[in-house]
Amino acid sequence: MYFYCEKCKKQYPLNSRSYMCECGGMFHLHKDSKDEPVHEITIGEHETPLLPFSVGNLDFLLKMESMQPTGSFKDRGAYTLINEIQHLGIDKIMLDSAGNAGASIAAYAAAAKIDCTVYVPDDASPEKIEQIEAYGAKTVKVPNGRMKACSAVKQNLGDAYYASHVYNPLFFEGMKSIAHETYRQLGNTVPDYVFVPVGNGTLLLGLYYGFEEIGRMPHFVAVQSKKCDPLYEAFHGLPEQPKRTTIADAIRIEKPKRLHDMVRAIKNSDGDVVAVEDTEIVRAKKYLSSRGIYVEMTSAAVLAGALAYFQAGKPDNYRVVLPITGHGLKR
Ligand SMILES: [Zn+2]
Repeated sequence: MYFYCEKCKKQYPLNSRSYMCECGGMFHLHKDSKDEPVHEITIGEHETPLLPFSVGNLDFLLKMESMQPTGSFKDRGAYTLINEIQHLGIDKIMLDSAGNAGASIAAYAAAAKIDCTVYVPDDASPEKIEQIEAYGAKTVKVPNGRMKACSAVKQNLGDAYYASHVYNPLFFEGMKSIAHETYRQLGNTVPDYVFVPVGNGTLLLGLYYGFEEIGRMPHFVAVQSKKCDPLYEAFHGLPEQPKRTTIADAIRIEKPKRLHDMVRAIKNSDGDVVAVEDTEIVRAKKYLSSRGIYVEMTSAAVLAGALAYFQAGKPDNYRVVLPITGHGLKR
């Protein structure tokens, strides 16, 4: 396996201290059929239920990623990323995160005895910061938002490996498992629609690459908050509006690094992007709770998006998967 630049195709080894190409291109992963994944580090990641759930006459399938060991889907990416990092002999990592990725990577790093530092925006959820620190990771709080946390960590890497869930393709490699698992759970068939809350696009791109391997695509519908919707603007060709703070903190990403990849994934799947009001997200969260499903705000956004998208109804034979990305106890 090796990384290669999306633009100039230059190759870099997996243990490279470069996290993007000198030409400014993002890394992608090249994998040979002989490349065996490493599975030494585990904290109990598992197949999550695909739970039937209805709202009025609309029926959905909730993919319960909130049941992963640290409470979010990010454990899939962290599992593969940390296993490979440990295999490469790397013992010190840094990353930036608004919470869930930081908690996942810190947990797996703890299991692998890897020294871990997470840069977080200072307005990140206190519960998520507490979880990251509980795993023994150091945290550095950075004022003025998620983008500043990203630039701060890059300036302070020193001899540490940048274990980023946005820059490092090994994280996306791990995310593919959710596509393969959903396919198996549906009797080796592909769902008609998958709704995805989108910030940095780790879940959307992981699903896209996974279904690409399977050879058939569901329609992907990305969901963003109207207060911070760069993919919605890019996909629909709208002018960029100032970004505001949304209650769905995990998708509060103003300038996602892999925006072009995301637009391509939506177009290639004949999908769409919807933006919802924060009030609709709150209503969806309350509804899920009233039915026994306790989720973080970002997870509720997928239900809000699906209800808006199928406002005029949905054919009964459409199978629509809504990933429940994070547990409500996190905030
Ligand atoms: Zn390049």
